[in-house]
Amino acid sequence: MQIGAALNRARARLQSTSDSPALDAELLLAWVLKSRRSYLHTWPERELDGTQQAAFEALVEQRMQGMPVAYLLGEAEFWSLTLKVTEHTLIPRPETELLVEQALALIPEHAQWDIADLGTGSGAIALALASERPACRVHAVETDLNALAVARENAARLGLDVEFHHGSWFEPLAGRQFQLIVSNPPYVASADPHLSGEVRHEPEGALVSGEQGLDDLSHLVSEATGFLTAPGWLLVEHGYDQGEAVSNLFKSNSYVDIRTEIDLGGQDRIGLGRRP
Ligand code: GLN
Repeated sequence: MQIGAALNRARARLQSTSDSPALDAELLLAWVLKSRRSYLHTWPERELDGTQQAAFEALVEQRMQGMPVAYLLGEAEFWSLTLKVTEHTLIPRPETELLVEQALALIPEHAQWDIADLGTGSGAIALALASERPACRVHAVETDLNALAVARENAARLGLDVEFHHGSWFEPLAGRQFQLIVSNPPYVASADPHLSGEVRHEPEGALVSGEQGLDDLSHLVSEATGFLTAPGWLLVEHGYDQGEAVSNLFKSNSYVDIRTEIDLGGQDRIGLGRRP
């Protein structure tokens, strides 16, 4: 089969499962051919050999079962970085780039701050911050050892300096203080119907946090006061309907300069506040 025909066939088959069937088909075929997507458009008449065709077919089948493209390729783009991702890590979302953007807006360019990313997963936020603020000391905490191994591998591959710690939230950070703490914790409510969608392939522990989705956010906002310098900033990602609840958590823990930032979809997404 030719490249163009294989893409057309895959696109048609992915129509009902994917919001981006053409892009998915191109990403998967480019992966099989170890080429760029542009190669597919330049050589639509090139013939696939049997092995390539079978490999592509297998990936399309898995995609049709709802497996996210990032897991099929084993990597995802975040900020300017290509990150390894596995089924032990959440796939970094574009919304989370807003968390990085907001953090960078607070960290002066040559600052030598101590920064912590809690629940780092693939290392996305910590690595993006380390790449943009090389003079800062970035610490990243993760409780899942498999995810932590992925994060360490990403740091090594990218040549970025992040100090990793194994444990739950603040547990491995005893005695340390940070000018800025960031986290994209699990924040989905346990009965959220969205959990039966494509996210079912992602680690539940990285998504779900109690009945309202607020258990970990509440823990982070209250505990962070003991780990922030004065002044010091806490920034957290949260669900589209948690803006008010999260600002109330900041208020009841005596933070100041409390704000909610909205994402590109116009939804409340980031809560931040400063320990005075
Ligand atoms: N935004 C993710 C989702 O809705 C949730 C990420 C998280 O819980 N931190 O799938």
